[in-house]
Amino acid sequence: MKAIEVKKPGVLNIVDKEEPELTDANEVKIRIRSMGICGSDMHIYHGENPFASYPRIIGHELAGEVIEIGESVTNLSIGDKVVLEPMISCGECYACKQERPNVCESVEVYGVHRDGGGSEMMVVPDSLVHRVHPSLDWSEIALIEPFTIGAQSVYRGNVQSGDHVFIIGAGPIGLCCLKMAKIAGASVAISDFNEERLKFAQSWGADMVVNPGITDVEEKVSQWTDGSGANVVIDAVGTSKTVEQAVSLTSAAARVVLLGFAKELSAISQVHITKKELTICGSRLQTHQFQKVVRLFNSLELNVKDLVSHQFDYSDVKEAFQLMENPSAHVRKVIIKL
Ligand SMILES: [Zn+2]
Ligand SMILES: [Zn+2]
Repeated sequence: MKAIEVKKPGVLNIVDKEEPELTDANEVKIRIRSMGICGSDMHIYHGENPFASYPRIIGHELAGEVIEIGESVTNLSIGDKVVLEPMISCGECYACKQERPNVCESVEVYGVHRDGGGSEMMVVPDSLVHRVHPSLDWSEIALIEPFTIGAQSVYRGNVQSGDHVFIIGAGPIGLCCLKMAKIAGASVAISDFNEERLKFAQSWGADMVVNPGITDVEEKVSQWTDGSGANVVIDAVGTSKTVEQAVSLTSAAARVVLLGFAKELSAISQVHITKKELTICGSRLQTHQFQKVVRLFNSLELNVKDLVSHQFDYSDVKEAFQLMENPSAHVRKVIIKL
């Protein structure tokens, strides 16, 4: 079978791989149909993902069809359209015992620590496979995983109905956070240097948009919140500067949610944190968000298909990566068809 492999940083190829076979009674074989390309795939390609090893078949935003099931699989049938929850944890460590398997000491993500779904077939445990509504498109199903990342951020930020939520960055993850915060009943503002992206965010329900290249963000947020500041700030950009900005935009008793992996230091004076008793937390992968997000997609009321801006055949994967390399304002989610 064909697979999309990053052999080493900078070298991406379509390779021939042995088709995987079921080896356990609880396993499921999936014919992969589409795969989203994510910022983290680009980091693997560039050798900038601290968790990746090489060679690696990439792909963790996956949609496919069940084509074979092990003897003990009862919750899935051949022909089901499914999404993969691409994460494996040990179940034994402190984080796992705290019901936080996403930060397990030995967490492994498909397509990062182990081979992913950028291939024609994949064999995985049934516990990681979620059935979806048959009328969802393959490209739409591949959006479920990035939506769980948005759901996790909203969960970590404890977003409540009526909260003012400020999101930094209107890329795909920022947009997923926006949608999930709106569903939670919050008023949501989002910032980006790109007007096209802000326009799209408005069409997705943003109550306020701001371009930091033109407008003073702190002032604008102060007006928007009658001087009190944002109750939740989600930083979906993750530079040292955006972390500082996130803290500066908060109200008292606010939550700041960080998604970035930058190593650069941020300068934050502790008085801001103590005085307002801020909660500053990280958000990584997701915990138990798949059920919630799959339910939302299955309701067929979410209408998020337009997040997909480009689709490529797998044989044109290099072209797709090229597009992601210098994305224009019109590039949102890029999907590979397998
Ligand atoms: Zn992703
Ligand atoms: Zn663990």
